[in-house]
Amino acid sequence: MSACVWFRTDLRLEDQPALAAARRSGPALALFVVSPAQWASHQDAPIKQDLWRRALIDLQPRLAEIGVVLKILHVQWWQDVASALVTFCQQNGVTEIHCNREQGVNERKRDRACFTALKTHGVELIGHDGQTLLTPGSLKTGSGGVYRVFSPFARACRARLREQPIVRVPVPDAMRAPADWQSDSIEALWPETLPSLAKTWPVDQTSIKQRLSDFLNTRIAAYETARNFPGQDGTSALSPYLAAGLISPAQCLEAAMIRNHGELETGQEGIRSWINELIWREFYWHLLNGFPKLSMHQPLRPETLGVQWRDAPEDFSAWAQARTGIPIVDAAMQQMLATGWMHNRLRMVVAMFFTKNLLLDWRLGEAFFMQHLIDGELAANNGGWQWSASTGADSAPYFRVFNPISQSQKFDPQGDFIKQWLPNLSSLDAKSIHEPTAQQRQALGYPAAIVDLKSSRVRAIDAFKRLSTIDTE
Ligand SMILES: Cc1cc2nc3c(=O)[nH]c(=O)nc-3n(C[C@H](O)[C@H](O)[C@H](O)COP(=O)(O)OP(=O)(O)OC[C@H]3O[C@@H](n4cnc5c(N)ncnc54)[C@H](O)[C@@H]3O)c2cc1C
Repeated sequence: MSACVWFRTDLRLEDQPALAAARRSGPALALFVVSPAQWASHQDAPIKQDLWRRALIDLQPRLAEIGVVLKILHVQWWQDVASALVTFCQQNGVTEIHCNREQGVNERKRDRACFTALKTHGVELIGHDGQTLLTPGSLKTGSGGVYRVFSPFARACRARLREQPIVRVPVPDAMRAPADWQSDSIEALWPETLPSLAKTWPVDQTSIKQRLSDFLNTRIAAYETARNFPGQDGTSALSPYLAAGLISPAQCLEAAMIRNHGELETGQEGIRSWINELIWREFYWHLLNGFPKLSMHQPLRPETLGVQWRDAPEDFSAWAQARTGIPIVDAAMQQMLATGWMHNRLRMVVAMFFTKNLLLDWRLGEAFFMQHLIDGELAANNGGWQWSASTGADSAPYFRVFNPISQSQKFDPQGDFIKQWLPNLSSLDAKSIHEPTAQQRQALGYPAAIVDLKSSRVRAIDAFKRLSTIDTE
């Protein structure tokens, strides 16, 4: 009889509640379910799937050191997971499976089906919390509702963290698994399908911890300002690891607080500001828990269902292929297409350009991001898109439309970022690089802007104004 840990987006040994519980009373099995059709339907980027694959290869020998043997199951769709798990448990004498809960509607549906099917065969499926700092749904407003606004949520979150400081779950002690337990070969069962970005996004713990400590030791002091400048290395770039669970939010919070002499709300400005971003991540997961419809393409503000989004496939393609003729937008899209990651300021700029200037449906942009981001995370991606589209919680008011040229001038003043990703514009000076003249565009082979920023801004505001119930404050 043995226990099993079912890994999902929690691919680590440290601070891993499900792993610790499965390993409590002896050697354990570990399981990862490869589900290509389901992942494709969730728009999970191939580059992100590759990160999961590489992370498991890295994890396997480390699991072996603590007596845990990793098995791989293949099912195309999650509706088939329950029966595959039942067979797996019967074949391996598994009596309990531990997992960290996930918040999406399909994830919850999958887990409910597995719970029921396993129970009828005498196997327990036991859920833990390993994705967030606090259990999603555990923070409520004074009237018992779900927080829809970030600031009060953040206050409540900090108060809870102060009252009940997080205790990280230790890595289980070393032990040997029985000699006849064999790990599966990940390389054989889940072969590499694309040239990997292993150099840009290594998955070993040494590199990830080094990234965290480099950031905390050198860059966090200037974070409050530097985080807005995409040409500077001003943020942690830890999001792919947080999204796949190679590092936990509690590990990040604890490291930041140690650097801040144990303080959460006071102390260094840069550290407080970074902790605030960890709380934004938390906010969006809690929001998704409270409003599961968010993972089913629904806006948080139902009145915005009435927005008449344009049907303009050519504009969509120009945006997606980084040829809108707005340099900062195209440079940002190039960054994502090349690395699977985009700077936060630019995610806001390109998403606002998409939903306001192009008046395209945020759901199309959300899906495109998920298809390309290595850190694609359901809650944060949905939250970021709904914020930009003014359809979400605590979102940008519909009449406050970012001007991408002003954003470019302000946050990439010398055009360094643009030059890095659009090298054909590198001969332009700091003034014209944000908005090249017609002659410069022609000489450098750069397209004219696909949209007039002023009139398209007015068009977007009008489209929202037409909604009778929209909040105009
Ligand atoms: C349209 C749009 C889409 C986005 N899609 C995603 C996504 O799919 N996955 C994702 O992790 N983040 C997403 N974000 C949030 C943010 O852009 C990234 O988390 C951030 O750029 C990651 O870089 P970093 O690790 O250097 O962040 P840092 O500035 O170092 O912040 C530390 C961590 O805090 C979290 N965080 C930071 N900013 C935010 C935020 N605004 N919302 C939620 N969490 C945040 C991330 O986990 C991040 O790694 C999106 C934002 C927008 C506007």
